[in-house]
Amino acid sequence: MIIQPKVRGFICTNAHPQGCAANVREQIEYIKSQPAVEGGPKNVLVVGASTGYGLASRITSAFGCGANTLGVFFEKPPTEKRTGSAGYYNSAAFEDEAHKAGLYAKSINGDAFSDEIKAQAIDMIKQDLGKIDLVIYSLASPRRTDPKTGELYSSVLKPIGESYTAKNLNTDKLEISDISVDPANEEEIAATVKVMGGEDWELWMQALGEAGVLTDDCKTVAYTYIGEKLTWPIYGHATIGKAKEDLDRAAKAISDSGNASANVAVLKALVTQSSSAIPVMPLYISLVYKVMKEEGTHEGCIEQLYRLYTEGLYTDTPRLDNVNRFRMDDKELRAETQAKIEKLWPEVTEENLFQLTDYKGYSDDFLKLFGFGVNGVDYAAETSPVVEADFK
Ligand code: NAD
Repeated sequence: MIIQPKVRGFICTNAHPQGCAANVREQIEYIKSQPAVEGGPKNVLVVGASTGYGLASRITSAFGCGANTLGVFFEKPPTEKRTGSAGYYNSAAFEDEAHKAGLYAKSINGDAFSDEIKAQAIDMIKQDLGKIDLVIYSLASPRRTDPKTGELYSSVLKPIGESYTAKNLNTDKLEISDISVDPANEEEIAATVKVMGGEDWELWMQALGEAGVLTDDCKTVAYTYIGEKLTWPIYGHATIGKAKEDLDRAAKAISDSGNASANVAVLKALVTQSSSAIPVMPLYISLVYKVMKEEGTHEGCIEQLYRLYTEGLYTDTPRLDNVNRFRMDDKELRAETQAKIEKLWPEVTEENLFQLTDYKGYSDDFLKLFGFGVNGVDYAAETSPVVEADFK
């Protein structure tokens, strides 16, 4: 088939196998161009390993540290008639490249929130790796089934306390208008914490600890975003921010349990399949790209992850804040950078969107997440969507 992007609202419903593979190779090349991570991990479990920050963590572990990796994700395999999801193609390409480099790389495609997938991962670690010394927790999901009760929880992206009206870019129609979001009720806040909070991270670490598959010096990290004034009402101080606060509680509980040394890492705002779904974020990220590219401080997932390993996880002098979080959002949150973004924010209109913001960069990166618009890929060519992969 000829595979062209099918964008519906803030998602793209198909993906290009060769484009996704090229993206993975580009990230691998970036990591190989950097000095190796000194004292890095040997055996790594990445939960949420197929796209965005989790994929970049897996690539940094394998190609920056020479680590064996076990990846867990939830992705759609292709059929003769339908493409697979981007994360499926990314992971198939990652495994190919890792195997070519002589590195162990296996993956489990299933619901990471379930007890079954945790047990399967533990069996594979016991059988293949013995113990692991780094667990990356990089899940982003709109819903979670509680493994103990079977109840399904859905997260919401809403403010807390009062409704919030803000400028929003409709990326489908390129229209800018105010959107108003009503505040979440208590039940919605609790459900969001249940999905995106620290409970499942704790359950993973507890299961791995009880199974005896963690090294004595094992580290674990989960990712968060904090942001600044412009995004606080819809992110930092909203339902998702409440869920993310719960990661701080979980990090302390995991460290106290003795299973691993746990930290939260604060990463910068970037376009991923998850962030494109959050109101206000596409316009904010387009401004971040504009200002940070002009400053020469722009970074993608892979650059952020390399810094997390070298300036956070594997250094004697990590940059931690007062609640023990690694701060990789330092460049985005610089006062000068935020001041420039805040000045531009009210000035952006549909007419000057491409001049005042880097919406072009945002939109190119969005399509790239699905393997489209990648240099060297022939999108007019007849392409089979089927890519074999040996995921469990
Ligand atoms: P993403 O959508 O690119 O990745 C999500 C990953 O989770 C994928 O590998 C997906 O397969 C996996 N996943 C989802 N549900 C699953 C399930 N039930 N079982 C197994 N795997 C499942 O998202 P991302 O933006 O890379 O987000 C990863 C983490 O980074 C999140 O905690 C997010 O809050 C955080 N973060 C993101 C940003 C940003 O701007 N994108 C900034 C800072 C922090």
